[in-house]
Amino acid sequence: MLLKHKINIFIAITAFFSAFVAFSAAIWVLDNYLAARDKEQRQAAIVTIKQDIEVFDRILAVVEEKWADELQISLRNLAKDLFAAAPNKIDISNELLRQLRTKHQLSDVHLINTDLVVFDSTYLPEIGIDMKGYSDNYTANLERLMNNGEFFTHRVSLSTETGDLKKYAYYSHPGSNIIVNGDLDIKSRFDKGKNDEIADYLFGDYIQKLAGKYKTINEVDVFIVSQVDQWSLFKQGTKIDEKIARNLYNGIDVEIPHNAYIAPILMQSYDEVGLKAFLLIEFNNSLLENTKSNLLWIMLLVALWVMVFVYACLRSGGKALIVDRFASLLEQIKANGDVQNVAIKISGNDELNQLALSINDMMKRIKKEQAKNKKLVDISLQDSLTTLANRRWFDQKITLEWSSAKLTNSDFSVLMIDVDFFKKYNDLYGHSSGDRCLRKIATILKTVMSRPTDFIARYGGEEFICILPNTDPAGARKIADEILKAVSDAKIIHENSTVHSTVTVSIGCFSTTGDAKLGVGNIIEEVDKLLYLSKNRGRNCVSQNTH
Ligand code: GH3
Ligand code: MG
Ligand code: MG
Repeated sequence: MLLKHKINIFIAITAFFSAFVAFSAAIWVLDNYLAARDKEQRQAAIVTIKQDIEVFDRILAVVEEKWADELQISLRNLAKDLFAAAPNKIDISNELLRQLRTKHQLSDVHLINTDLVVFDSTYLPEIGIDMKGYSDNYTANLERLMNNGEFFTHRVSLSTETGDLKKYAYYSHPGSNIIVNGDLDIKSRFDKGKNDEIADYLFGDYIQKLAGKYKTINEVDVFIVSQVDQWSLFKQGTKIDEKIARNLYNGIDVEIPHNAYIAPILMQSYDEVGLKAFLLIEFNNSLLENTKSNLLWIMLLVALWVMVFVYACLRSGGKALIVDRFASLLEQIKANGDVQNVAIKISGNDELNQLALSINDMMKRIKKEQAKNKKLVDISLQDSLTTLANRRWFDQKITLEWSSAKLTNSDFSVLMIDVDFFKKYNDLYGHSSGDRCLRKIATILKTVMSRPTDFIARYGGEEFICILPNTDPAGARKIADEILKAVSDAKIIHENSTVHSTVTVSIGCFSTTGDAKLGVGNIIEEVDKLLYLSKNRGRNCVSQNTH
């Protein structure tokens, strides 16, 4: 796989992971932020509602004082009327009680005996209720009243039987042995449009207002809990679960779902008569969940954009910084293999740039080495005296040329040239003159064989050999004769020669074609034989094979 593809895959993976990390981190931060905000808002709502209810309690207490005064007058007058109409008490008829109730504008009247049991009432289901059961505090209050001409009231309460809101009061006429208990029906009073604010609280409008104000609140309720009874102030007539009520009354935590809170609140008037008030708020979680799910989608989109952006940035950055420069380096290295002295250039000043410089240095060194090697190769294949090819080069060359001739089935000729009586030449003129003579003959041979395909080598001592590819017998003969003539024309004095007064050469001339079943060794043997034939024939001549 190409480096640029690997980098692209790496970039894609990096982009994906950076988007994933950004997404997770953002979701985590926002989730925590929302949860904290939600908690703060809930706490603030609880505090506000608690304060509101407590303020309401104080307003109600003030209003209730007026009702208490009203009740005190009504009950005294009712008792007076009652005992005037029925001095023996046994004459009290239920009919009389109902008449007095209407006269004194009370909603119901109950008569309680010394055992604190209701023995007569305008509301018949309450006859027989034992008032001692209400609480020790309640009992003590009632016992204190009996025959004392005193008055006792407690705050508005809700009838768990009928769901009505009533203000109750107790009065006992001296010497009567009866407690007269009368109540005001609060609901009917508010229905007349009085005390709207208190009506709002008592009849549930407050909850609707809260629902408008706090979108996250599902339900608000105030529970009043006594030792014997438990009911809801805002949801009229609703009793709360007895076990929960008992636990709350005894200060034991009640386990409720995490979206609801129960907090004790101080409603003084209730507190005074031994009743405890609790605020219940049930929050609506769906708004938060909706926000969170919307947030998730938004963050997914953001993550997608982050991924595309990071990918695009890294890709263009990676392309400009690495891929393009690397590709250019590669191109230049390839091109530099063919073109001499072209330095690789890479922009910037980094590892890639240093790599380019190192490659430049390396290539310079390689080129130097190559030149050196060429020289060494040349030296190993060259004859130092004549600068012609030496025997080793000749061996390689003839193998190559003969193979080539065999492939193309072409003409092939070889000349073997030997200086005549050269030993004698050395003997007479000295070895260095001999060397000079050999160099001259080499030059003559080079001049005569001008074809680029012709190849001359110093075969040994004063022997030379020529390869003439694509040369037929006539052509070879012509060259051999020209050599003979050129050496003769050079007129190198050789007084010791018995052939001539100047240096002469004898030549063996062997011609064949590529189809001949000969090896290189056979060709050398043949041409050597022909050379010796020339020697035997008296030297300074050419001997050629017949065809
Ligand atoms: P022939 O005509 O039969 O070839 O007689 P020749 O004397 O040329 O042959 P021979 O083989 O007897 O002697 C060759 C001589 O060539 C021997 C040697 O002194 C001389 N020779 C060989 N190589 C060199 C060389 O590099 N320099 C010099 N100066 N002489 C060389
Ligand atoms: Mg010889
Ligand atoms: Mg010789």
